[in-house]
Parts: sequence; C-alpha cells; structure tokens
Amino acid sequence: MSDILAYALHYEGAFNKNSLGGVSEAARLAAEAGCEAHAVVIGDVSDELAASLGNYGVTKVFRCKDAPEGLAQPVVDVMAQIMDAGGHGYALFGGGLLGFEIGAGLAARLNAGVTMEVTAVNVVDGKLTAERPIHGDSQVSTSSYKDRGIIIGRLNAFETAAPSDSVAEVEDVSVQLSEFSTKATMVTRGEQRGEDVDIEGASILVAGGRGLGKPEGFELCEALADALGGAVAATRAVVDAGWYPYSTQIGQTGKTVSPKLYLAAGISGAIQHKVGFQSSENIVAINKDSNAPIFEYSDLGIVGDLNKILPKLTDAVRAKKG
Ligand SMILES: Cc1cc2nc3c(=O)[nH]c(=O)nc-3n(C[C@H](O)[C@H](O)[C@H](O)COP(=O)(O)OP(=O)(O)OC[C@H]3O[C@@H](n4cnc5c(N)ncnc54)[C@H](O)[C@@H]3O)c2cc1C
Repeated sequence: MSDILAYALHYEGAFNKNSLGGVSEAARLAAEAGCEAHAVVIGDVSDELAASLGNYGVTKVFRCKDAPEGLAQPVVDVMAQIMDAGGHGYALFGGGLLGFEIGAGLAARLNAGVTMEVTAVNVVDGKLTAERPIHGDSQVSTSSYKDRGIIIGRLNAFETAAPSDSVAEVEDVSVQLSEFSTKATMVTRGEQRGEDVDIEGASILVAGGRGLGKPEGFELCEALADALGGAVAATRAVVDAGWYPYSTQIGQTGKTVSPKLYLAAGISGAIQHKVGFQSSENIVAINKDSNAPIFEYSDLGIVGDLNKILPKLTDAVRAKKG
C-alpha cells in the first residue's frame, strides 16, 4: 500500500491532542499494511519537536517553514506537493474544523475521495477503508477509495499511542504557495475559552441551549454547575452564535459524553444533540414547551421558564449542601 501522510497541528511548542491521535492512527495503519506513515508540520517547529512525532510511530516528518500554520489553503499547497512528490496514497487528519477545511481543499486539489467525521479506519485488501456514522449516528457507512483517499477523523476518534523513544527523520521542504493561498493572513491565534474544562470527564453536566436567550444566560448554567460540582455544556446553536466556546458543544459534530447527570436547559432535543449525551445515566430537561422532543427521552422533565427554575434549583442545591 502507498504511504500515509498525517497533518500535525501545533500551538505554542506542543502538538494538538487530536493531531497526535491522527499521527498515531496513521502509524498503526501503516504497520498493519506494511507501508510507512509520515507527518507534515508547518511553520516554526524546532528539530526536536518535529522529530518527537517519531514517538508516535511516524518514520519521517516533512517540515515546511515557508507556510503559515493555522490557515487551510497554504497547508493544502504543502500537502499536495509532498503527496505528489512522495507518492502518498492517503492523507489523515485527527479532526477539528481546520482539518475539515484542509482535507476538503486537498481532496479537490488531488481529485481524491474524502471522508469526514471518521470513527474507524481499517486495512482491507491492502487499501484503507473509513467508517463514519450517518443518519444521526444510527447507521455506519464505509468508504473505500478508487485512487487516493483523504480521511478526517471525528474529534477524539483516534487514540494517541503511548509514546516510544523513537525519533523521526526531519526533512525540510520548500513549497511555492499558490497566489490565492497568500490572500488570508493570520491575525492572531489562541486557545478557546473553556478548553481546560474536562467536559468528557465531568460526572455532572448542565447544558444550555438557545432557550437561554442570550450569552449572559449561561451564567445561570454556570451557577448551577458550580453548586453541583459539575461543568457546563452547550448545543451547536449557541456555540455557532458565539454564546459559548466550541469546546463545550455536545452532539454529532461535538463531544460525546455519558455523565451521571445531564441537565438540559432551554434545549429542544434535536437528534444531532441527543446522540452526544444519550448514554447519560440520568437526563433532566427544563423547557417551556411541553411538546419539546427532549422530553421524549428525559428521565425527568420540567415544563417551565428556565429563568425562574434554574436560580431556584441553584439556591436549593446550595441550601442542601449547607
Ligand atoms: C449536520 C448537523 C450536525 C449538527 N450537529 C449538532 C451537534 O453536534 N450538537 C447540537 O447541539 N446540534 C447540532 N446540530 C443542530 C441541531 O439540529 C439543532 O439545531 C440544535 O441542537 C438546536 O439547539 P437548541 O436546542 O439550543 O436550540 P432550539 O432548537 O432553538 O431550542 C431551544 C429550546 O429552548 C426552549 N426555550 C426557549 N425559551 C425558554 C425558556 N425561557 N425556558 C425554557 N425553555 C425555553 C424552546 O422551547 C426550545 O425547545 C447539527 C445540525 C446538523 C444539520
């Protein structure tokens, strides 16, 4: 099988967790298929940091210092050139919005097949196939590729391997960026607010949706989560609106959680949200609409205005805790 190239995103001298998952997955598949897994890093990456990707199983790291990190089109230029020169058959991304954007551009550039939101990759008859859940995660579709394949994981789908002592060979590549790739410039990069909150590990989640009415509505969820010793989660509608960080989104295109208690406030219960928390032990919903779909799968449903109920609940929990 032809080799696999994985993209490793970095920020402030460390690789992104999902990228390390993608690099590890590429190495696992290459070992199974009898080919090599390589990685690509963009921008200012030290020799030591680049070579450290060998800890996760890749044998070679291509480093392109000429391109800016964090923008999709320059990375498409770099990866397309490396794959054409090296004969790589597959590109693999750990997930995330940047991976989606680069992967889509790369598929168009190379006339390759692309699969997003992938949860498992297998070697079948010497080629890669990718599985992705469809129809609100009720079915799984399997993609195979006529020629080249671009595989983009769902967030957290690929496990990061335990690091070994191996280091990778680092090869600097110089790439002529397309004119259109240099139109956008990076103004600033930063970590998302809330990135440090362990949503997946929390045993109590207070989730807020559009029914909170405005970004400040999340203060009600935060107060209750604080009283309960839990964390705050959100729906896609509100993270897309910029009310709360993307890192807290639960659902098909967000995180999957299974806490002891999932309390949903002002959330309608769309299937794409439900698939992210349906395995929670107890589901409590507060919604002013008694016909809201979320009541169909709640253990306890409260019909009413969250602006009245949440503060009372918070006071009651605080009073109980003394
Ligand atoms: C491909 C795709 C992927 C998606 N992935 C996701 C995903 O990962 N996660 C996700 O969450 N969504 C996802 N969505 C979006 C999803 O379909 C819904 O649009 C979204 O979940 C709705 O969010 P919401 O419940 O906050 O808003 P709404 O559907 O607008 O619901 C708001 C609810 O608040 C209630 N309400 C209003 N005021 C009050 C009040 N004062 N007190 C109590 N209740 C009140 C209303 O009755 C209503 O039920 C996806 C959609 C698509 C097409």
